[in-house]
Amino acid sequence: MSYLDHLTCPRCTGRYDAGGLHNLCECGSPLLAIYDLERLAANIRPSDLVNRPANMWRYREFLPVTDAENIVSLGEGYTPMLRTARLGRELGLNQLWVKDEGLNPTGTFKARGASAGISRAKELGATTVAMPTAGNAGGAWAAYGACAGIQVHVAMPRDAPTINVMECRLYDAHLMLVDGLISDAGKLIAQGVAEHGWFDASTLKEPYRIEGKKTMGLEIAEFFDWHMPDVVIYPAGGGVGIIGIRKALRELREMDWVSGPLPRMVVVQASGCAPLVRAFDGGLDASEFWQSAQTMAAGLRVPKALGDFLVLQAVRETEGTAVAVSDAEIEDAMRLVSRMDGLAMCPEGAATVAAAKQLRDSGWLQADENVVLINTGTALKYPEVMNSIIAES
Ligand SMILES: *Cc1c(COP(=O)(O)O)cnc(C)c1O
Repeated sequence: MSYLDHLTCPRCTGRYDAGGLHNLCECGSPLLAIYDLERLAANIRPSDLVNRPANMWRYREFLPVTDAENIVSLGEGYTPMLRTARLGRELGLNQLWVKDEGLNPTGTFKARGASAGISRAKELGATTVAMPTAGNAGGAWAAYGACAGIQVHVAMPRDAPTINVMECRLYDAHLMLVDGLISDAGKLIAQGVAEHGWFDASTLKEPYRIEGKKTMGLEIAEFFDWHMPDVVIYPAGGGVGIIGIRKALRELREMDWVSGPLPRMVVVQASGCAPLVRAFDGGLDASEFWQSAQTMAAGLRVPKALGDFLVLQAVRETEGTAVAVSDAEIEDAMRLVSRMDGLAMCPEGAATVAAAKQLRDSGWLQADENVVLINTGTALKYPEVMNSIIAES
C-alpha cells in the first residue's frame, strides 16, 4: 500500500521514524515524508493506475497511510484540467490550462491536505487536531475530522470569509475567532496545544498535509501522459501546494516516470501581502514578516510562512519567478475568466490569471508554452467578493 519510509528535515537533514506522530524537526524546520522510491518504481507502473478510483487515493503508494481502513476520503482530487481556450486567446497563450480545484469537497484544494493529514493522524492514534487558518483549511479539516470522528480545534481571524465560519460550525468543530491575522490565530493554537495536548496540525507543523497537496503534481503529470508542462502558476499563502507539486515531480523523476527539467514554478501573491515576492526579489533565502497584511484573497493573507525557504528553493531551482498582483487586478481577472470560460475562480485562483497576463505582457511567458494555472478553489465560497465584482461591472 504505502511506500513511506521515514521523515527527514530539509534544513539539518535530521532523520525521524515515520511510525509516530511528529511535528517540527528539533531545529524548527518542517519535516518531509520520504518514500522508498526504488521499491515503488520496481513494483508499480504508470499503467497500474489506469483503472483506479478517480480521487487522490489512486496514488496510495505515494501517500502515507499504511492501512486502507484509515483512509478518510470524501472523494477529493483527480480534478479536471480545463483547456481555457478563450482566456488563452485573450492572454496570448496557446496552451493555457486551468487545474480546477474548485471541484473538491469543501470547494478548495485544502481537501487534499485535510484528507491526507486526518487519515494519517487517525492511523497514528490522534483523537484531536488543532490549527490556525485563514479560512478554507479550517472548513476542510472540520469536514474530514467529522468524517474521522476526530475533534478539530480551529482558530481563524474574525474577518475570515463568513462561509468558513459557517463550515466550522456545520461540521461541529471547536471554533475560536481571533482579532488579528492567521499568525495571531497561531498563537492561540500553540497555547491550546501546550495546555490540552491537542495534536498540532498547523500548516507544515505536521508532515502529511504536503503529501495530500502533492497529489496535484501527480495528477498534472498523469494528465499530460507523464510529461511535465513548461510552467505552473500557483497562488501562495503558506506555499504548501507548490512545495507539494515540486516534491511530487521530483519523486516521479527519481522513478523515471517523468524526465527533463521541472516546470518553471511561479508563485503569485497579493500586493497587500507579498512576503515571498519580496524575499525572491531581494535574493533572500527566507521571507520576513509582512506588516499589516491586507487582501480580499483570504488564502493569500499569510504574513510569514514556515516553509518560505522551501517555496523560494522551488522557484529558484526551476528558474521560476514570483509576482505580486493587486486586488483590483484579481477582481478584473475573476470577471474575465468567468465571461471567457464560464469558470467561477476564487480570488486566489484568479490571481494566477492576473500573473499570467503580466508575465505574457513582459515576454516572460512565450505564446506556445504549456502553462498550468492552479485554481485553488471556487468563487462560490466567496459570496461577498462575488457580490462586489458583479456590483461594479
Ligand atoms: C489556502 C489557500 C491558498 C494558499 O495555499 P497555501 O498552500 O497556503 O499556499 C490559495 N487559495 C485558496 C483558495 C486557499 O484556501
